[in-house]
Amino acid sequence: MDFLNQEFYNLIGGKLVKAVKGGTMNVINPANNKVVAVVPKCTAEDVELAVAAANRAKNAWKNTYVGERANLLCKLGAIIAEHAEELVPMETAQYGGPVSKTRNFDIPAAVGEFELMAGMGRSVTGNTITADPLARIMTLREPFGVCGLITPWNFPLVTAVSKLGPALITGNTVVLKPPSCAPLTVLKMGEYAIEAGFPAGVINIVAGPGSEVGEAIVNHRDVNKISFTGDSHVGKRIMELASRQVKSVASELGGKNAMIVLDDAELDNAVEAATYAAFFNSGQNCGSPSRFYVQEGIYDAFVSRFVKAAGKIIVGDPTDPKTMMGPLAYNACLDTAERFIESAKKAGSRVLLGGERPTTADMKDGAYVMPTIFEVYDNKIDMMQEEIFAPVVGVMKIKTPEEAIDLVNDSHYGLCASIWTMDYRRALLMIDKLEVGTCWINQHLKIVPETPWGGCKESGWTKENSMLVFEEYTFHKHVWLELGDKPHTFWEKMIDLG
Ligand code: NDP
Repeated sequence: MDFLNQEFYNLIGGKLVKAVKGGTMNVINPANNKVVAVVPKCTAEDVELAVAAANRAKNAWKNTYVGERANLLCKLGAIIAEHAEELVPMETAQYGGPVSKTRNFDIPAAVGEFELMAGMGRSVTGNTITADPLARIMTLREPFGVCGLITPWNFPLVTAVSKLGPALITGNTVVLKPPSCAPLTVLKMGEYAIEAGFPAGVINIVAGPGSEVGEAIVNHRDVNKISFTGDSHVGKRIMELASRQVKSVASELGGKNAMIVLDDAELDNAVEAATYAAFFNSGQNCGSPSRFYVQEGIYDAFVSRFVKAAGKIIVGDPTDPKTMMGPLAYNACLDTAERFIESAKKAGSRVLLGGERPTTADMKDGAYVMPTIFEVYDNKIDMMQEEIFAPVVGVMKIKTPEEAIDLVNDSHYGLCASIWTMDYRRALLMIDKLEVGTCWINQHLKIVPETPWGGCKESGWTKENSMLVFEEYTFHKHVWLELGDKPHTFWEKMIDLG
C-alpha cells in the first residue's frame, strides 16, 4: 500500500501549505524500500512563518477558558479515532510498525492521551504560600508561550500527541516538527486540527530535516520552550544551542535499559516479559531492555526459555495482523544493528539466537534483523554500553543482586530497569540504589499516560505523562500581595522621604 496519490501539507497559521521553496522529500517503506509518499521538505523560512503564526496566536489562546481548550483536544482525539483505519496503514508503512501495534496501541493511545490531558489539564494549579501573615503569596502557572516540539519516529503519532496535549491544554501554542522518515500521520493530524476548529496558529506543523528545520526552531528567539524526544547525541546538540538563549528544554533521550532476574523470579512471567519487552516494535522502544543480568541459580532455565520464546516470534510483513515484529525503521538502523552484532562477536560474546538478517523472499529487500540474543561476558563491550535501538540484546550471568546493581549503574544512561523476584522487600531496597528514572518490579515496558515517564543521567531528566508533565509546559510566576502597611526594607529610618 502507498499514499502517492495523496497530498501532504504543513500546517502554518491555520492553512495547509507546501514548503515555501517547494522542496519535497520521499517517505520510504522499510519493509520493501519503496517510496510510499512525498511530503514537504521545509527550510528555516517555513519555520519563520510557523513561529510568527504561533506567536500571533499565543495571547488569545492563553486567555481562552481551559474548558474550551479541553473540548478542542477531545475533538481532535475523536477525529483521529474516526480516521483510525486510514491512519493504521499509514503509520505502519512509514516506519514498519506492525498493524498489531499500530491498530491496538498507537491510535487508541493517541486518542486516550488527548482525553487524559484534556481532563487532567483543567485542574493544573499554582501554590499559595503561608510565609507571611500580612501577605497573600501565590504562584500563577503560566504557559511558556511558543513551544517547539521535536519528535522521533518510533511512535510517530503518540510521541507527538504526548507533547501536544499538555502543551496546548496549559495555554501554549506550538510548532511541531515530526521525524523526516515518518511524518505522515502527524501531517494528517494537521488537517484534523483545522476540522476540530483550533484557532489559526495554535498548532503549526513543519516537516523537514532536523539539521535545518529542527535547529531553526531551537534557535528561534520567539520559541521559549523546546520539548525533544530522541537520541542523546541530538539532545546534547539541542541543549547546547538552547543554552545560548537560556531556553527551557525538556528532553526524553536514549536508554540502555536493564532487566535483573533473580533466583526466586517467577520464571514464566520473566520469560514472557523479556520476550515482549525486548522485541516489541523490533526493540525500537526507548524503554526496551537490552541488557539482562540473570542470577546463576535461574540462569540456564531463563536463558534457554528466553531463546526458545524469542525464536518463535513471527517476523515479517508488518501489514499482516499475525506479524509480531516488522523491519527496522530504515536502512541506516539496520547498518547500526549489524555493526553492533559484529562488534559483539569480535568481543567474544556468543550468539544464542539470530545475529543475521533474513534472506527469505518476503524480507530480503527490507530493513529486517531477526531477534538476536548474545551471551555476554564483559559489561564494558559496546553492545552493553550503547543504545542499539534494534532487536539485539545481551545476557550476563551474575552471582548476587549487588553485582547486578553495579552493572546496571555502570552506564551513562539512566532511563529504566526492572527487577524480577518474589522478595519485594529486597527489590525495594535495590531500587534505592538503581540510577534510573523508572523502575518496575515484576513488570517491564508498562507505560501508561497516568504514570510519569522519564529517566536520569544521559537519558534526560524530564518527566512526561501524569500530572508531572505540566511542570514541563508551565512556569510558576510568583505574586506577592502585601496586606501590611509598610514596605519591606533593610534601610529602616535611613531613607529620606523628604
Ligand atoms: P533522533 O534524535 O535522530 O531524531 C528525533 C527528532 O530530532 C527528529 O525529528 C529529527 O529530525 C530531529 N533532529 C535531528 N537532528 C536535529 C538537530 N540537530 N536539531 C534539532 N532536531 C534534530 O531520534 P530518532 O528519531 O532516531 O528516535 C530514536 C531515539 O529516540 C532513540 O535514541 C530513543 O531512545 C529515543 N527515544 C526516547 C524516548 C524517551 O522517552 N526517553 C522515547 C522514544 C524515543 P530528522 O528526522 O529530520 O532527523
